[in-house]
Amino acid sequence: MVLPVVKYGHPTLRARGQRVEAITPEIERLVQDMFETMYAAKGIGLAAQQVDRALQVMVIDVRDVKDRPSTLELHGEAAPVEALMPLALINPEIKPFGPPETGPEGCLSFPELFADITRPAQTDVTGLDAKGKPVKFRCGGLLSRAVQHEYDHLQGILFIDRMSLKDKEELKPELDALQARTRAALARK
Ligand code: ZN
Repeated sequence: MVLPVVKYGHPTLRARGQRVEAITPEIERLVQDMFETMYAAKGIGLAAQQVDRALQVMVIDVRDVKDRPSTLELHGEAAPVEALMPLALINPEIKPFGPPETGPEGCLSFPELFADITRPAQTDVTGLDAKGKPVKFRCGGLLSRAVQHEYDHLQGILFIDRMSLKDKEELKPELDALQARTRAALARK
């Protein structure tokens, strides 16, 4: 089922996700719904907070992006990114490392807003997959950026928190308007 994606100004986006203690049928359905929601919105990543659930759950699929490459290492060996996709991560832990890289980012909770964000180029990731099986990998490029962006969501951190002050200042009218629209819609409920 495609779920509504909550927008900037919704309080759940600022909530830290709770750890998932067991892969229940509800969690399995949430993961499935998050994939459907992400694909319907043509996104490459989605965090549970974005569907109004403050949980340590994210989904990612970078296969459709051909012009921004990703790298992957599984068990210390280079692997095709497709080997890991579609990727669901539950209770992830990450260690970003390497030189800072700047690239454009958007977010389904901030429609039509984009900005350059600087993040470490690579990420070591551990967590559980949708079945509760441990996963461990090292990634770079777009996948590394997506993992760090979604991991931030799970902590209640948004990409606007990592923008340059200049970009945030320039986007302020749009951000304020989006926040006001979200809050007005919530107040009507
Ligand atoms: Zn996002």
